[in-house]
Amino acid sequence: AEGTRKYLLGGNWKANGTVASCEKIIAEFNGAGPIPANAEAVVGVPFIHIPICLQSLRSDVEIAAQNCSLTGTGAYTGETCASQLKDMGVTWVILGHSERREGFGMAGEDSELVAKKTKMALSEGLKVMICIGEKKEEREAGTTMDVCAEQLKPCAEILSKEDWANVSIAYEPVWAIGTGLTATPEMAQETHANIRQWVADNVGADVAAAVRIQYGGSMKGANAEGLLAQPDIDGGLIGGASLTLDFFNCINAVP
Ligand code: PGA
Repeated sequence: AEGTRKYLLGGNWKANGTVASCEKIIAEFNGAGPIPANAEAVVGVPFIHIPICLQSLRSDVEIAAQNCSLTGTGAYTGETCASQLKDMGVTWVILGHSERREGFGMAGEDSELVAKKTKMALSEGLKVMICIGEKKEEREAGTTMDVCAEQLKPCAEILSKEDWANVSIAYEPVWAIGTGLTATPEMAQETHANIRQWVADNVGADVAAAVRIQYGGSMKGANAEGLLAQPDIDGGLIGGASLTLDFFNCINAVP
């Protein structure tokens, strides 16, 4: 990260875990050493495990939800809305994850919906990690930045400049998620720089200089250092490795 951007290391537990496994990993995280002063740590946990984490997890690791409703409170069976998350003590929400965009058998979320949810979450006082990233065939076709721009466009249209202060962009190439295939630091840096340039051109140079861009996709302790050393990589969004103490190896890999 360059300038005044603080590293943001996010975990993403996805739909993993039980009460027992949560208690185990919480105890391990609580026993890990201090978090570097230039890093911020957040873990995205299943809705049902939010209370356990809020109660027991060290207070310097913030809690994120992995989704929130487009609606406010009311007759929306099965939804969990931003104001309820905020009320619980949740501070962040991960939105637009590629798995939710894909839909796993249900209707997936499009970028318009992700932008509207982002606006809703921000208006309720949550911070948002907006996930973007290209699929394998899109990278091979050379359209990576077109895809990222298309995914960010509705956010650029809906969000105010003030909103962007509470947003982080998580660049997660879909082909790297859960596959063990990480983008090389150089590949990731190139895309991060292009995303930052797009934000400069479409939102503003001040926002582009301040917004954090996290890398996600098979990040782990063993490869975090090279990625985090890149000037436009301001952190990570870490899936599999955040279910183990290796999450702290990523946190401790900040330069
Ligand atoms: P991974 O997942 O680290 O297991 O590849 C990253 C993510 O989906 O956010």
